Amino acid sequence: ITSHVGFSNLPNQVRKKSVKDGFQLTVMVVGESGLGKTTLINTLFNSTIYMPREPLHPAQDRPKTVAIENIQADIEENGVQLRLNVVDTPGFGDFVNNSDSWTPILDTIEQRFDAYLTQENRVRRQKIADSRVHACLYFIQPTGHSLKQIDIDFMRRLHLKVNLIPVISKADTMNEEEIADFKERILSDLAFHDIRIFQAPVYEDEDEEGIAESEEITRAIPFAVVGSDRAVRTADGRIVRGRAYPWGVVEVDDPTHCDFGKLRQMLVRTNLEDLRTHTNQVLYEHWRTERLLSMGV
Ligand code: GDP
Repeated sequence: ITSHVGFSNLPNQVRKKSVKDGFQLTVMVVGESGLGKTTLINTLFNSTIYMPREPLHPAQDRPKTVAIENIQADIEENGVQLRLNVVDTPGFGDFVNNSDSWTPILDTIEQRFDAYLTQENRVRRQKIADSRVHACLYFIQPTGHSLKQIDIDFMRRLHLKVNLIPVISKADTMNEEEIADFKERILSDLAFHDIRIFQAPVYEDEDEEGIAESEEITRAIPFAVVGSDRAVRTADGRIVRGRAYPWGVVEVDDPTHCDFGKLRQMLVRTNLEDLRTHTNQVLYEHWRTERLLSMGV
């Protein structure tokens, strides 16, 4: 298995700028428990930074709200450091009444904007600690039907505050045609509800290869992903990250099997800077303007 994190392959200019600022990416993961969030994060960064949570015993007291947890990891590839912050939201969708599941998540995103604003307003602002969320991976259950009410409620509330990246989890439970149909239905649901998901910008000076790469990524959204932190042996004897079934192996890194590679490429390579820029220049700015207006400034 070769390198799984592509940030050392970034174009030089972007890389120089990012290294100066320190590569830093804050990704939030949201979705009902059991959808494979832990596994996917570990697969994305090819490590076990994120420990699986034991399912609650039926008799155990259940938390009544969505919790917010932070996990931080420094990953190095070819001497380039990426500080990765994962914001997990356990409890989302786990209650009898989930109508407010999005509230603590929205609060966290806004508190992080607020912390940034406070620092920006200081007289001395050399070192601003930036904990803003750059991307939110929203996990969709592979039902093959359409989005659920909880998905729509969440995304409608959050789409103007964070870069939403919808993913269909456990894509190995559906066949190719089902995935294509499901993706189409999800996109039309999103359009119907006026939900904006992250759009990679198109640069005028981009070369053909870059444009083709961006288009391929954009076309795959919502990414149908498969996660696995295990290595398995394929029928032809290769050792790959995947999930073994009696009839064969689903390979996480094979683009004909799932969109995992495209998601990873988007996050840590193609759109790393775009996610950060859009957060800063559009989402944060929008929040800041509203906030200052509401304060009468
Ligand atoms: P979380 O609660 O969302 O963090 O989910 P976990 O990562 O703990 O995964 C829940 C269960 O789903 C575990 O048994 C995983 O092995 C399994 N799982 C995770 N990813 C996949 C996947 O892509 N496909 C399939 N079939 N199972 C998966």
